[in-house]
Amino acid sequence: MTSDLPTPQPDPVEARRAGGPFAEAPSLDGELRFDEVALDAAATDFGGLVSRRPAAVLRPGSAKDVAAMVRYCRERGLKVAGRGQGHSTHGQAQVPDGLVVELSALDSIEILDDTAVVGSGVVWSDLLRATLERGLTPPAFTDYLELSVGGTLSAGGLGGQIGRYGTQVDNVRELEVVTGKGKLTTCSPTVRPDLFRAALGGLGQCGIITRATISLVPAPRSVRHYVLTYPTVEAITAQQTKLIQEARFDYLVGQALPGPDGWTYMIEAGTYDGTADDDERLTSDLGHTAAQIQDVPYFDFVNRLAPAVEAFKAMGEWQRPHPWYDSFLPASTVNTVVTDTLSGLKGNAIGVTAVILLYPILTAKCATPLPIMPDEELVYLFSLLKTASPGADSAEEMVAANRAQYDVTRAAGGCWYPIGSVPLTKEDWVRHFGPFWAEFDAARRRYDPDGVLTPGQRIF
Ligand SMILES: Cc1cc2nc3c(=O)[nH]c(=O)nc-3n(C[C@H](O)[C@H](O)[C@H](O)COP(=O)(O)OP(=O)(O)OC[C@H]3O[C@@H](n4cnc5c(N)ncnc54)[C@H](O)[C@@H]3O)c2cc1C
Repeated sequence: MTSDLPTPQPDPVEARRAGGPFAEAPSLDGELRFDEVALDAAATDFGGLVSRRPAAVLRPGSAKDVAAMVRYCRERGLKVAGRGQGHSTHGQAQVPDGLVVELSALDSIEILDDTAVVGSGVVWSDLLRATLERGLTPPAFTDYLELSVGGTLSAGGLGGQIGRYGTQVDNVRELEVVTGKGKLTTCSPTVRPDLFRAALGGLGQCGIITRATISLVPAPRSVRHYVLTYPTVEAITAQQTKLIQEARFDYLVGQALPGPDGWTYMIEAGTYDGTADDDERLTSDLGHTAAQIQDVPYFDFVNRLAPAVEAFKAMGEWQRPHPWYDSFLPASTVNTVVTDTLSGLKGNAIGVTAVILLYPILTAKCATPLPIMPDEELVYLFSLLKTASPGADSAEEMVAANRAQYDVTRAAGGCWYPIGSVPLTKEDWVRHFGPFWAEFDAARRRYDPDGVLTPGQRIF
């Protein structure tokens, strides 16, 4: 006799758990996920260029969970990477067939007198909201605030406060880290300084940051925001050089803007709690061709990319591939490289919503060894933040152009800021780290001797 009842189908999630490499995982405060939603999310990033699926995703309930699972993976030859907000552009947080740790679960924020102790999955906008309740702020931000603390501290974290406060990694007092041996430990400039130096800006190669202690400073209430226009690269960099050397503003960035009649250039400068009385003193000798000035509440100023992001999402541009290129150029070659690069952009090589950043950095303000910058007192960030828009070059063509731009950058004494989409060889990486390679390599061998961590960076 046959039954009309349907044959029970195996649950695919349970099948993956039972048959996969994580079948013997230890019990955890949080959970291991094997469902399609979690695996697919961990296989994507903002870049939209590469996709590698892990075998499992850890949503940790504690830093101890991260340590336990790194130990488990190490014993079985599996790879692990932390994932903050997945705003990498070339698969840097992906782990084919391994474990991705969803760090957004580590979201605690504790505000002390002049520091914040935060879980590495906290996004900077939430941290800023919390610190502002006490009249305080982290000193340095990235342009976009929906990035995780651990993600930007693993890259460097650059923004317009760099002339006054350095990068975000320059403003960290202590880290809690899970090493590639699965050891939960702390490090600071005085405790395990080799780990501290290799973890800050270290692209997740020596440890997964689970908590950071970040310096805080008094927050301004508002920012007097100046937008000044220039006709040439030489004109903008001459003024930016003067401004950063004098520390005339609290905030200083710049952009190249495409237009029907060619490129124009824009300085954005900010004075904390400034007033109209400051305008003449701050701008009368800056030789700009146009100026817009307004007072903006501090949070809105630091978060001023948010409305543009919403507009890009509505246009569909935010969801398209983003083959980004970011570099540091020495001041001695910046004008030539920027002029040649922009005049060489043929057709639609960067997409309709591309942003081209150009702003100065005093290397003396950036005391941590990473991210690597050219060996000059003054360098420039030059970023081609491309979108593979419809009708523009393909994402693959843009990535190939990034590689060519990387070679131009190196020939000009520059280096890349490693958050973008450039295929690099091992030799490229060794050259990239330069004199710091020996220390970085030694830290990797000490703290991740089996090469468990963060394979998506493709360094080791
Ligand atoms: C719209 C946008 C704007 C940006 N603006 C700026 C800017 O102004 N300045 C700037 O400097 N950068 C900027 N970036 C780049 C950004 O700082 C880096 O890509 C950063 O790593 C992204 O953070 P995330 O949380 O999304 O990291 P993810 O993409 O999740 O991870 C990035 C890398 O860090 C590793 N990682 C993540 N968390 C940890 C952790 N806790 N411990 C160890 N390793 C970890 C991952 O494994 C991966 O290799 C921007 C990126 C985007 C998409």
